[in-house]
Amino acid sequence: MAESYDSIKNQLVELQKKFPEIEKLSQGLNHRLLELYSLYQIGLALSTTLDLDEIFNLFKKIFQQTLQVDRFGIFLIDNNLSVLSLHTSFGLPKDQDKIKTSFKFGEDVFGESLMYEKAIYIPDVSQEPKYNFFNDKTKNGSFLVIPLLLRKNHPVGVLSLYRKTTDSFSNNEISLFKTIANEIAKVIDKTLLFRQTKELSITDELTGLYNRRHFNERFESEVQRSRRYNRPMTVLMIDIDYFKNFNDINGHLMGDEILKRVAHTIESNIRKADLVARYGGEEFVVILPEIDKHRALSVAEKLRRTIEKKRFPKQENQPHKNLTVSLGLASFPEDSTDARELIDFADRALFKAKAEGRNRVMVFDTSLENNKYYNPTMMNVEPEKTADNK
Ligand code: GH3
Ligand code: MG
Ligand code: MG
Repeated sequence: MAESYDSIKNQLVELQKKFPEIEKLSQGLNHRLLELYSLYQIGLALSTTLDLDEIFNLFKKIFQQTLQVDRFGIFLIDNNLSVLSLHTSFGLPKDQDKIKTSFKFGEDVFGESLMYEKAIYIPDVSQEPKYNFFNDKTKNGSFLVIPLLLRKNHPVGVLSLYRKTTDSFSNNEISLFKTIANEIAKVIDKTLLFRQTKELSITDELTGLYNRRHFNERFESEVQRSRRYNRPMTVLMIDIDYFKNFNDINGHLMGDEILKRVAHTIESNIRKADLVARYGGEEFVVILPEIDKHRALSVAEKLRRTIEKKRFPKQENQPHKNLTVSLGLASFPEDSTDARELIDFADRALFKAKAEGRNRVMVFDTSLENNKYYNPTMMNVEPEKTADNK
């Protein structure tokens, strides 16, 4: 009995000796598990979405719940590599509006991490006199800043992490966070590139307006929306008068300048909810959701008048010594409930506006074939008040 007691005691002592080793092993495994779990979550996120905000929210969740940091921030650098600005964060102090959220390249702990492309770990911020950031609001705890690099010399931003307790980031953790930072950098690059490509594919290069392809997509869904909710909607076609003449006399480059200015004028005289696109060479199209024919008439008339009054370079060479546009409009549902037909009808109204002498608005109606055109004095419609517009 005594012998077996001694043997058990010895085994216990042996086990006790091994305990730190086992604990270390278990910590290592835990860490590895955490690492795999975080990377798995990140991988999952990246395979399901290309929306940067959605992805950042996921990173936020991973850092808050799985990796348990108290504060987290992603700063992005602008295209000129001059300013780092906070894009996503959690855990900032309540009076966060007083916290500095943008830093010049090289400035303070964030700018420095980015400039030297190296992580900066501060185990105890109360002992850190070098960076201004810690004189301000963050006086205790540990802080880790990791640059987000696509590759060498290609910084996209920095990741900043904070815990309230001092010395709370282990070496293992720091290397895990560096791995995650690499993933974040890749995502930023991928989604921004995706955003840029998408942007390029839907905008017209010269005017910056949406292009015709994008217009067609949006118009189709606007018509469906109007149908579903039984709401009015109007489409405007706008064409510059005697534009060939303008190009012939003043050259194509000056013509391009006019196109830009007309595009801008249209854009700044409609509401945010409206959509304007370059439909063809010198032809624009506007969707006016929720606007019935009567109100659309005053929007169109306001546009026509604004362009008529605006001074464009070289307009004195135009046939009436003025640069003007003609407009045609057709409305849902009275003219048609079909997208293609609405465009066709607005186009026919525009054709009539040209035929009637240009610089005018023509409303489509079934008796249009009798050449009835809109004359503001005749119909006694005042242009929309500016307050209703953007
Ligand atoms: P109308 O009053 O009947 O509309 O006459 P118009 O001369 O404007 O019409 P037309 O369709 O005969 O000519 C359109 C002109 O628009 C032809 C072309 O020189 C010009 N144009 C089309 N696209 C561009 C462009 O991207 N840049 C420039 N500068 N001109 C363009
Ligand atoms: Mg024209
Ligand atoms: Mg034309």
